[in-house]
Amino acid sequence: MNESRSDARIDVVPRVAEFLSRTHRLFIGGEWRAPLAGGTAETLNPATGSTLSTYSWADELDVEQAVDSAAIGFETWSKLTPARREAQLHAFAAVVEDRKVELAQLESLDNGKPYANAFNVETAVASSQLRYFAGWPTKITGQTFDVSATDFHAYTRRRPLGVCAAITPWNYSLVMAMQKIAPALAAGNSLILKPSELTPLTALYLAELSAEAGMPPGVLNVLTGDGGVVGAALSRHRGIAKVAFTGSTEVGREILRASASNIKYSSLELGGKSPFIIFPDADLEAASESAMWAIFANSGQNCVAGSRLFLHSSVYDEVLERVIVGARNLVIGNGMSTGTQLGPLISRAHLDRVMSYVDQGVAEGATLATGGERCGGDLADGNFMTPAVLTDVKDDSPLAREEIFGPVLCAFSFDSESEVIDRANHGDFGLAAAVWTDDLNQAHRASEALRAGVVWVNTYDWFDPAVPFGGTGVSGLGRELGPSAMDMYTELKSVWVHVDHP
Ligand code: NAP
Ligand code: MG
Repeated sequence: MNESRSDARIDVVPRVAEFLSRTHRLFIGGEWRAPLAGGTAETLNPATGSTLSTYSWADELDVEQAVDSAAIGFETWSKLTPARREAQLHAFAAVVEDRKVELAQLESLDNGKPYANAFNVETAVASSQLRYFAGWPTKITGQTFDVSATDFHAYTRRRPLGVCAAITPWNYSLVMAMQKIAPALAAGNSLILKPSELTPLTALYLAELSAEAGMPPGVLNVLTGDGGVVGAALSRHRGIAKVAFTGSTEVGREILRASASNIKYSSLELGGKSPFIIFPDADLEAASESAMWAIFANSGQNCVAGSRLFLHSSVYDEVLERVIVGARNLVIGNGMSTGTQLGPLISRAHLDRVMSYVDQGVAEGATLATGGERCGGDLADGNFMTPAVLTDVKDDSPLAREEIFGPVLCAFSFDSESEVIDRANHGDFGLAAAVWTDDLNQAHRASEALRAGVVWVNTYDWFDPAVPFGGTGVSGLGRELGPSAMDMYTELKSVWVHVDHP
């Protein structure tokens, strides 16, 4: 069980090998610029601990340059006709689609995730997001109003905001970046992207692809470096109209505070501790399979991870057994090996943090039903652990309350609908939830009662660029994707016209 298989290694394509061999600079105003203070950093392969590539470590001076260039980019871009912007974004999408293999390989190497997931999820979703939002520039509209004073005509227009900043995490680097780039640019804004220091490569590659696609200089800029320096400077900068952030709740609070400088718009996609509820009449086989992937996909490093599994007491043993067997059969290994289903955690520090939750939980009385061990042998150099399932977890313990962001599932038993809704809604997070039942009334009642930005019924983890996504409570502010994303990257201007009636 959980052994790494020595399946075939996927060959790195020549373009990726060449890209990795470069020392990456900052992408500002359509050109690659060395950071003014000359700093560099290395990004590691979490499956091996070895250095993958070297990139620039920007500081505040580079942020100033990027904001100036993005302001010039905004002037050009926002004045293009909607049809021209649309054509340019479709051209960008065509290049991204053409280079999916390279993007997926870079993401798999940098983040550790299985190549198949990088290809089928990251690049597929990022491409579909770009296509969806590429269609928006010609569909942005205002409204007219029948005001009560007869001598007036009033209407609204949706205008772009200006220079936007996007600050993104390492777990779905490409999707999280595109989820911000695509609507921001479709609305006519320019953007500065600050990817995670742990996975900067696909953001840099996207910058290169945007230039190949003929994107005007300064419309998309990429700054790599420390969040506490570059991210913080972007968040407080008065030349930036909006900051779009995905990451931890803790940093989200910092960003809100910094945004107060010029009352900039901010949208936050933050953490979660999502409940996955299985009622006794559900299709137990499908529900167990879904519950297993809901937590272990991407090695549990998923904002919507279904980390609290609530099982009705009458099916608890059966479903738990299925989930445990499923977890034991997952193949752990290097993301660039063909059979891998579970890659490493992002860093050694993160692995230590996740393991400490398991160890502390067990010390406080929880039972480790399976997994929760560091992997040795040929995986010892990477940040690997076996997927863990814990039972006898107290509702108020850190295991049950805090976002662990790793392959750690807590299973609970419940007896009634009202009890499980109360327990599922316990805590400050409110990102996602799942309800599995064959009872239509129960499905609707539970979906309504659960405090979450998204509820999945008899399924999990489905996304579409057209469907809004975001959290409630400390899980976030605003809704990305769909029409609501276009609202978040524009603001309304109301125009009153006095009309004489002689
Ligand atoms: P993180 O530590 O909050 O970092 C996210 C980004 O913020 C990184 O680019 C980071 O830079 C930057 N940053 C750090 N400190 C900053 C500051 N003071 N000001 C501005 N930016 C700063 O999160 P993470 O560890 O990368 O990602 C995991 C978290 O993301 C989890 O909590 C997860 O739930 C959440 N997440 C949420 C969603 C969602 O849609 N709701 C999706 C994915 C992930 P560095 O790289 O230098 O640290
Ligand atoms: Mg890396």
